[in-house]
Amino acid sequence: MSEVYDLIILGAGPAGISAAIYAARAGLHTLWLDKQFAPGGQIISTYEVDNYPGMPGISGMDLGEAMAAHAKKLGISPVRENVLSVEEEAGEKIVRTKKNTYRAKTLLIACGASHRKLGIPGEEELGGMGVSYCATCDGAFFKDRTAVVVGGGNTAVEDALFLAGICRKVYLVHRRDKLRADKVLQDRLMECANVELVWDSIPLEIRGNEQVTGLLVRNGKTGEERFLDVDGVFIAVGIVPNTEKFKNFVQMDENGYIAAGEEGVTNTPGVFAAGDIRTKSLRQVVTAVSDGANAVYSIQKYLLKEK
Ligand code: NAP
Repeated sequence: MSEVYDLIILGAGPAGISAAIYAARAGLHTLWLDKQFAPGGQIISTYEVDNYPGMPGISGMDLGEAMAAHAKKLGISPVRENVLSVEEEAGEKIVRTKKNTYRAKTLLIACGASHRKLGIPGEEELGGMGVSYCATCDGAFFKDRTAVVVGGGNTAVEDALFLAGICRKVYLVHRRDKLRADKVLQDRLMECANVELVWDSIPLEIRGNEQVTGLLVRNGKTGEERFLDVDGVFIAVGIVPNTEKFKNFVQMDENGYIAAGEEGVTNTPGVFAAGDIRTKSLRQVVTAVSDGANAVYSIQKYLLKEK
């Protein structure tokens, strides 16, 4: 019989890292799994995180590394394994990866979210050939060239700002005439002479043959179509929770987020959720970190009760 952990944490984004730190300090026998090559979750593709207290202007990669180094100092690091399935067996949580089967008394799901796709022709076919979901990862390939960012949230505006410093010209295509991004970012964007905002426009097709040549958009108000002659298309239209593997295991809301409040408690006893993967109104590093701490506090209470 394999050993039974007090807790298995899935995910090494800010929520998972914070949970690992709290679990280590609480003396829980913990296994921490993550499939990524570097800790930090979504922030590793963020050029600059400027709203995490005490770390003004830090890069997402550096913040992820600093957080993981903190956990390591307390004796815990993520094991790099991709979870295939989770299930319940005689009150224990069973986590299967390609290599192993693990057992625990409690499970914390902190697997975050992934980029939403546009689902238009050319997106799939030209992936990696000019279509990207990460400006900080791929922006350098577009030095002195042209690019378009699709979206109107914080990610889209941050991407446009980042690309404006590299590219000759950047378009920002948004489906409405108002950005969703924070005002401080909008103000910075308006100061960029090489950024053109394309309002009320819906992307129809990404064109190119082995390399992107442009994006066709339609103005939703006038019906007019416009072809943007660009080398790169950066898609930043939000996130979708990574909950596919947890269907039928925990309750989710209509958008696929795990139904759990601030304490991280789900409808399945002994299963907890933290960070972007759970139902919440503000998905930020600071709220994810707080989720990790709250969830471990709930887990400690649960373990005491079950003793
Ligand atoms: P988001 O806030 O959900 O914004 C997604 C944007 O894409 C919206 O403007 C939306 O338009 C647009 N959109 C969605 N589906 C679309 C479609 N099919 N076609 C065209 N446009 C579409 O997503 P995000 O910017 O990735 O941010 C995710 C979360 O992370 C947010 O909570 C955000 O605040 C947070 N975040 C924070 C920071 C920071 O604080 N520095 C940085 C990055 C992300 P509508 O506006 O019309 O809905």
